[in-house]
Amino acid sequence: MTKLFLFDIEGTTTDINFVHKVLFPYSFQNLENFILHHQTSPVILKAIEDVRQTVLEEEKLNLTLNEVIAKLRFWIETDRKHGALKEIQGLIWDHGYAKGEFKGHLFDDVKPFFTSVLETGAKIGIYSSGSVHAQKLIFGFSTSGDLTPMISYYFDTKVGGKRESSSYAKIAQLTQLHPSEIHFFSDIPEELKAAKMIGMHVTQLLRGDTSPSEYEGITSFSVFNGN
Ligand SMILES: [Mg+2]
Repeated sequence: MTKLFLFDIEGTTTDINFVHKVLFPYSFQNLENFILHHQTSPVILKAIEDVRQTVLEEEKLNLTLNEVIAKLRFWIETDRKHGALKEIQGLIWDHGYAKGEFKGHLFDDVKPFFTSVLETGAKIGIYSSGSVHAQKLIFGFSTSGDLTPMISYYFDTKVGGKRESSSYAKIAQLTQLHPSEIHFFSDIPEELKAAKMIGMHVTQLLRGDTSPSEYEGITSFSVFNGN
């Protein structure tokens, strides 16, 4: 019997384009204002310094504050994974969610499915490459309301990559469950393969343009009917 239902976010509970169409543009548009308003806060000062340091090392340039902002915008556009950018974006999104500027996208079938899962006595967990903090924001300020009271576990890449079986073994270990008691949902076959390899049950979500694979596929949680 399944005791833990484990969910990927992008392409599974959430539109695959949410991050690129909503979150990235929001951080791009609000970057300058945010930095100018918070430039004396220690976290922002440190982030600005980190950007200057990186550019000094890579391009031998000393950036002004305006140039730091322009560089950060360039990094958003080119999807550079830089710690300082991630830090600032995270803070901008915190404010955006809290002010209700946007909500974490969830497909309409997610909340009813979570409800039915909890009714069986099973628990709900999330495993996404976005940070645990970002995951809690999506579900806490979602288009279906605050779903965080329904969720028992959040895992990010601190347990390992999503295409590695060892990550799923770690999740089983951390939740003190046998892999066969866990059902993992994702849109990515490589992730399903990694989870199945250690004995988890898996189902592929076929939202939008996602191509079917060798794994059982559903277009919506409303048509899921057990293992
Ligand atoms: Mg996904």
